[in-house]
Amino acid sequence: MAIRQDDNRPSRRFGLINLLLIGFGVLLLVSNFLPNPATQVPRVPYSLFIDQVNSDNVKRAYITQDQIRYELSTVEEGAPSVLATTPIFDMDLPQRLEQHGVEFAAAPPKRPSFITTALSWVVPPLIFIVVLQFFARRSGMGGAQGALSFTKSKAKVYVPDEESRVTFADVAGVDEAKTELAEIVDFLKTPERYAAIGARIPKGVLLVGPPGTGKTLLSKAVAGEAGVPFFIISGSEFVELFVGAGAARVRDLFEEAKKKAPCIIFIDELDAIGKSRAGSMGVVGGNDEREQTLNQLLTEMDGFASKDKPVIVLAATNQPETLDAALLRPGRFDRQVLVDRPDLSGRKMILDIYAKKVKLEQAVDLDKIAQATSGFAGADLANLVNEAALLAARAYRTQVAQGDLNEAIERVVAGLEKKSRVLQDDEKKVVAFHEVGHAIVGHLMPGGSKVAKISIVPRGMSALGYTLQLPTEERFLNSKEDLEGQIATLLGGRSAEEIVFGEVTTGAANDLQRATDIAEQMVGTYGMSETLGPLAYDKQGGSRFLGGGNNPRRVVSDATAQAIDKEVRGLVDQAHNKALTILRHNRELLESISQKILEKEVIEGDDLKDLLASSTLPEGVAA
Ligand code: ADP
Ligand code: MG
Ligand code: ZN
Repeated sequence: MAIRQDDNRPSRRFGLINLLLIGFGVLLLVSNFLPNPATQVPRVPYSLFIDQVNSDNVKRAYITQDQIRYELSTVEEGAPSVLATTPIFDMDLPQRLEQHGVEFAAAPPKRPSFITTALSWVVPPLIFIVVLQFFARRSGMGGAQGALSFTKSKAKVYVPDEESRVTFADVAGVDEAKTELAEIVDFLKTPERYAAIGARIPKGVLLVGPPGTGKTLLSKAVAGEAGVPFFIISGSEFVELFVGAGAARVRDLFEEAKKKAPCIIFIDELDAIGKSRAGSMGVVGGNDEREQTLNQLLTEMDGFASKDKPVIVLAATNQPETLDAALLRPGRFDRQVLVDRPDLSGRKMILDIYAKKVKLEQAVDLDKIAQATSGFAGADLANLVNEAALLAARAYRTQVAQGDLNEAIERVVAGLEKKSRVLQDDEKKVVAFHEVGHAIVGHLMPGGSKVAKISIVPRGMSALGYTLQLPTEERFLNSKEDLEGQIATLLGGRSAEEIVFGEVTTGAANDLQRATDIAEQMVGTYGMSETLGPLAYDKQGGSRFLGGGNNPRRVVSDATAQAIDKEVRGLVDQAHNKALTILRHNRELLESISQKILEKEVIEGDDLKDLLASSTLPEGVAA
């Protein structure tokens, strides 16, 4: 698609004209203050002038507002005959002059020339405008658009053209969303058919899903498939600086869109304006503005209802639970399309799309890559293929190999390798035991994941080492035992530190966070607690797939709240004990694998499998 941004940057020539005008104005001003050489006559005190009048020595006088010029009747040799003086306020002067027979006249009131008048009207406003423009250009928030056009919508318009068109073929792994949106394409293409039967074309479709799953891409594909213009704007761009500007922008945007109908308006990050009005109470500042913007949006959506020229509003958010209920009512965003992270086959299809854009070795097995990238969103997969291509290019190879893709997975998972971050020897030892602790417990726990790699090479900003667990099969359901196993595995790192060093470090914070989250979900969401029964204590805000975390609890009695906390605590404690028991039982193995990893930094594949094979469950501990 060709991108075109509404651009009213003043042209360079216009700037030049401005400059000339300013120069001219300044000249005019300065010229007023320059003495006029033609009027240079000797100046004398006023008292002398009066003396001369009194002694009948003045022949004639010419009086203006700021000087009196007069001619003497008799002068000494060489002295000037014409003199000037500065008038003072003197009511008696005409009488006195008359008495002494002086011929006198006053200058007519000064008439500024037409040009001066015109310029004095034109130049100051021009200077004002130029200054404004200067600031408009400097307030670069909207690039070309600034203070002068702050109510103009900043929407970019894409008009699909043949070669850069995005279609549904460019989006994979989100088939349900595609099916729903195909219908929208149909509305846009043949609105008559729906109008004829009296059906109301939906106005708003809300795409809901985690970041990077292809919401923006999908909406572009809708425009591409339907062949209609596509206005794209981010919710946060509505809300800026001035109260009321957002509402004006919304109005402007819909105005523009109606001119180009049928078309699509895509509002990214709808939550920036659509946050629940009730829920946002007490947020400091910007509240009024957002509310006005939201109200304007609702009004506009209620307003347009052209049957044969539909304007369809697509919007995206990853926080649907925060949206104002008014947005979700019929006639507004009444359709909601879930765009979730792709499953195994979806990932394979997305990988296929991006693999076509790079040169792959014949032997590359994308199925394996798809298997190892559970939880990746479309954007992560696109990034992964690109990383792999970069790795191959860096090694002066002409094709991407399986190894590049594998390495790229790790990079995407754990951030780029930071060679510069050096661990002290004692730190390295702690990290080694910590990771091996994870690995041994993880190996013995059920849940269909196998430990594929242990590394103590620091990566990214926070991970000092990591244990990579790969699921052997795609799983949608986890049993209670699986989840308990996951918690125990997460606590394995800390438990190993406790056993070997008798103390704990800060390195386990993230593990504990995740372990606690799982335990809380088991009790609050999945109803897996025996004492509390199959009740969902967490309120489901539809955000589970976003990795939720801070779900609000249903209103429960204090006693229940305490019981929940106790259950969560119990689950984590139990898992902790399990991890400790397992690691004490396998203490020798823990030592030997840790020694090995301190030498080699990374253990993976068959080596690791052989090492972990000798681990055993202690008696009385169930897998
Ligand atoms: P979102 O708007 O959901 O955050 P985007 O649509 O901006 O995600 O996705 C970013 C990029 O990731 C896209 O431009 C595309 O290259 C890639 N991508 C994401 N999801 C998919 C998908 N399902 N199929 C193909 N590519 C995808
Ligand atoms: Mg997006
Ligand atoms: Zn850990």
